[in-house]
Amino acid sequence: MSDQDPNCIFCKIVAGQIPSRKVYEDEELYAFHDIHPWAPVHFLLIPKRHIASMAHLAPADEAWMGRLMVLAPKLALEQGCNPYPEGGFRMVCNTGIEGGQEVQHLHWHVMGGPRPWARG
Ligand code: 5GP
Ligand code: ZN
Repeated sequence: MSDQDPNCIFCKIVAGQIPSRKVYEDEELYAFHDIHPWAPVHFLLIPKRHIASMAHLAPADEAWMGRLMVLAPKLALEQGCNPYPEGGFRMVCNTGIEGGQEVQHLHWHVMGGPRPWARG
């Protein structure tokens, strides 16, 4: 796919060149467990297409972004997060250096499960 970055670790995960524990996949979206979880449930939800960060989104991204947001709570429950309101989950999208982003491929952390968590 031409919309992938050959040097990007998450593009390599989408392509299967780096193994991952898959949570979900469709034509546009991919979800996999974070390699260093902070919470009992911690997976990453990403567009398959290489987009560096949330700062790079354009109006053309609105449709899959909306789908991603609707998908997140469903996957959170499937992965073992407890139901709202006693349970729930946290969704985080670090953006840029001051936002704490380490991997430059847009991703949302979805974290949940019984506390305490390792971080947060
Ligand atoms: P950021 O700090 O960019 O928001 O988060 C990057 C996340 O990606 C971190 O939580 C880190 O553990 C995760 N991560 C980095 N490399 C890999 C990898 O090769 N496989 C998986 N599953 N997660 C990774
Ligand atoms: Zn990428």
